[in-house]
Amino acid sequence: AQQQLAHAQKMEMVGRLTGGIAHDFNNMLMVVIGSLERLVPGLADDPKAARRAEMALQAALRCSDMTRRLLTFARRQQLHPEPVDLGALVTGMGELMERTLGGGVAIAIEAPPADAEPLWTASVDRSQAESALLNLVINARDAMPGGGTLCIRTVNTRFEEPQTAHGMSVPAGDYILLSVSDSGCGMPPDVLERAFEPFFTTKETGKGTGLGLAMIHGFVKQSGGLIGIDSTPGAGTTFRLYLPRAAMDALQGPAPDDDGADEAF
Ligand code: ADP
Repeated sequence: AQQQLAHAQKMEMVGRLTGGIAHDFNNMLMVVIGSLERLVPGLADDPKAARRAEMALQAALRCSDMTRRLLTFARRQQLHPEPVDLGALVTGMGELMERTLGGGVAIAIEAPPADAEPLWTASVDRSQAESALLNLVINARDAMPGGGTLCIRTVNTRFEEPQTAHGMSVPAGDYILLSVSDSGCGMPPDVLERAFEPFFTTKETGKGTGLGLAMIHGFVKQSGGLIGIDSTPGAGTTFRLYLPRAAMDALQGPAPDDDGADEAF
């Protein structure tokens, strides 16, 4: 068992490294591809140079395809679900989110009202949940170049019926909703339709990788959750991540005193 654990840990390390490197590598590749694409048309009267540039471009595109497969591989390795208080996770990231947003965007973190049932514990990989939230905040920032408002909410949600959306299906049950709303540019239907596609981006070369939402999709799907999006061009976008409630939490019901409960898992 000890050996198996070591192996699993090693695989996770490899997965994380691969994912991280593939992500950064792809950022650089996007610069290479963008430059070559701009270079090729200008080489019309030098066929030899044009051919070389075209070959380099094709090779870079193949590399990009390989990083895509590496990321798919890495994504499958990484998840370590544990009981997570999403409300505390959001508040804990407040400062980081403010720094990410810069001055122009007001941030509102909405906690459940004091008389409401305490927020359920979610069963998710903590670092993936943090990275998903940060990616949503970065996208919201980019959607509001002229400033605006970002609202983050966490709330208990019960689905009475199974739900399906964006290639994800979940059974009826208890979920914790993490929603991120911006008052930004919104998405027209053709962008919304492709938003989760790996490498799909509307941002200029070097600014976007097109991997943020693809990673979020992988994370939520593997966690057994669901994503909902509302987007209105010119008005804003809301991403809703429904993440499954931790089983222990469901059995115990609302704990009167949650002190140290997390250490027990
Ligand atoms: P990236 O941010 O690198 O472009 P993503 O996968 O995170 O990659 O997003 C893909 C695309 O979805 C973005 O380029 C943008 O067009 C659109 N998008 C994502 N989030 C928002 C948002 N909050 N508002 C408007 N458009 C968005």
